[in-house]
Amino acid sequence: TASGFEVLDSKNAQSPINIETQSTKYDPSLQPIKPLGYDSKLGEYFNLSNNGHTVVMSLPNYMSLEGLPKKYSAVQLHLHWGSRGTEEGSEHQLNGKTYLAELHVVHFNSESYPNFTVAKEKADGLAVLGILIEVSIAGGHSKSLVLFNFVFSAGDYVSLHSFDVHELLPKQMDKYFRYNGSLTTPPCSQTVLWTVFAQSVQLSRQQVAVLLIHEPLPT
Ligand SMILES: [Zn+2]
Repeated sequence: TASGFEVLDSKNAQSPINIETQSTKYDPSLQPIKPLGYDSKLGEYFNLSNNGHTVVMSLPNYMSLEGLPKKYSAVQLHLHWGSRGTEEGSEHQLNGKTYLAELHVVHFNSESYPNFTVAKEKADGLAVLGILIEVSIAGGHSKSLVLFNFVFSAGDYVSLHSFDVHELLPKQMDKYFRYNGSLTTPPCSQTVLWTVFAQSVQLSRQQVAVLLIHEPLPT
């Protein structure tokens, strides 16, 4: 059963926002998010690079999302994290709490538009999954996230023979917050249907230590 919560008073919000769970409303019409083709495939190359602003991986467009009003195909994923020594790098907040980091998986409406460039100008053009990342005392959950450690300097680049994007998502995907917002970097157009998962992904203290000595560059 789906447990999608609509964020109230968020019409055409400038993202990111602070999601107050008390100001969300259970919406039975919201479907569970169903990622297709996200599991690891051999023979497909995944390029992870640091473009000087963020760590980004382009994704094959056979990866898609169901459970949204239209079919959305994957474009890329990227990471937001804090400046050196701070453990507050997420873009969204949950009940006023800033998380360590946040992963964004960007998709475009491939049912209505031919590609990302066209779709990003349209009101229903993009859908982004927001995954909040925090430190776990019990140990890390995500093996895939460790790969980001290799590309923290501008120009760094790794090519991976396989990559399991599904493993970057929280286990509990049926509880999420939904609102219409914008891209969080310029041009900040109001074209994004946001899905921010209620459950965070956990990293071990050791994994976090590597993240914290690297500084993201200004956009
Ligand atoms: Zn982002």
